Amino acid sequence: MAVEQTFVIIKPEAVERRLTGEILTRFERKGLKIQRLAVTEISKEVAKKHYAHHGDKPFFPHLIEAMTSGPVVLAVLEGDEAISQVRNLVGATDPAKAAPGTIRGDFALRLPYNMIHAADSPDAAQEEIQRFFGN
Ligand code: ATP
Ligand code: MG
Repeated sequence: MAVEQTFVIIKPEAVERRLTGEILTRFERKGLKIQRLAVTEISKEVAKKHYAHHGDKPFFPHLIEAMTSGPVVLAVLEGDEAISQVRNLVGATDPAKAAPGTIRGDFALRLPYNMIHAADSPDAAQEEIQRFFGN
């Protein structure tokens, strides 16, 4: 088992609904350690860069609008296999299909409002940590 770092964004709709503590508690209960934490707002420019690989999708403008509609919470989490462990706790992309017991399965109904972003590979995690926290 490799100790990894991962990166998450608790999205504006989750912060608005006061679910930040609930979501962070799930990661802590699992045994993951919060290494960095910040409340901020994401600019359109940074949101577009973050989701650049979805730039040609029909939902892209709506996604950028949603990600920049209010404050977000950024976190770096550390633990054994943190990237896959966090993705498991987060659940499937579409909250209508995400399993009950997952964050998206328990708290969201409809795309693009699925409460949280989680890095999907070690390279993505490091790139995103650098983008949002710098050094
Ligand atoms: P994320 O990258 O946010 O952790 P993910 O890796 O599960 O989510 P992606 O396919 O990378 O899913 O999609 C990025 C984000 O775009 C999703 O979190 C969701 O908010 C939005 N999204 C994805 N598919 C759709 C869709 N069909 N319609 C609307 N929004 C979508
Ligand atoms: Mg993704």
